[in-house]
Amino acid sequence: MEAAVAATEELSLAAYRDEVAGCTKCPLSKGRTQVVFGSGSPKAELMFVGEAPGFHEDKQGVPFVGAAGQLLGKLLAGIGMTRDEVFVANVLKCRPPGNRDPQPEEIEACEPHLWRQIELIQPKVIATLGNFATKLLSGKPLGITRVHGVEQKVVLGGNRVVLYPIFHPAAALYTPRMLEVLEADFSRLPDLLGSATAPPAPVVELVPAAAPRQEAVQLGLF
Ligand code: URA
Repeated sequence: MEAAVAATEELSLAAYRDEVAGCTKCPLSKGRTQVVFGSGSPKAELMFVGEAPGFHEDKQGVPFVGAAGQLLGKLLAGIGMTRDEVFVANVLKCRPPGNRDPQPEEIEACEPHLWRQIELIQPKVIATLGNFATKLLSGKPLGITRVHGVEQKVVLGGNRVVLYPIFHPAAALYTPRMLEVLEADFSRLPDLLGSATAPPAPVVELVPAAAPRQEAVQLGLF
């Protein structure tokens, strides 16, 4: 039964990928080589959301394959995980020219794709990489410097999810101090996954302490 559900999830994510491949919802579609849908396990418990594809991602059709992607792989290895067991996506599925910041109207056009991915994958924990993903998924304007490393319980794509903002790996490429912060934030992921996937604690019914037993008094005998 579970295997059948997993196979259906896989199919529907693959079907959605095919649908998105022809997306023309915003002008970025004109300059792209291809849509960068996302990669990894369709039933991942941990999902990463970055900003937008860059040069190499646009050419290869896979997110995070450049220098930031290599670092993401290393950070994952540091917590004993691989890219195959997580799902990696971006806020924008098409490369902005010259790797400029995503524009509000591009985010607005593209976000339904991300919501649908979350709905289909049903991750337990979503780690947002950097400001754009963090602000979009938290629905709050607070920047990554203020909120990194602090998990929030939210409902996304119809599911309860632990949202966990962390710095974008690109920020740590040339700044050793930032790498330490990223490693520290990453090190909490296994625990967050553990508590997000743990079965709810059994409800223990608290019975009030029994009232001291009154000795039965035999009335009327004396
Ligand atoms: N940076 C991102 O945010 N996403 C990618 O896919 C690559 C670099």
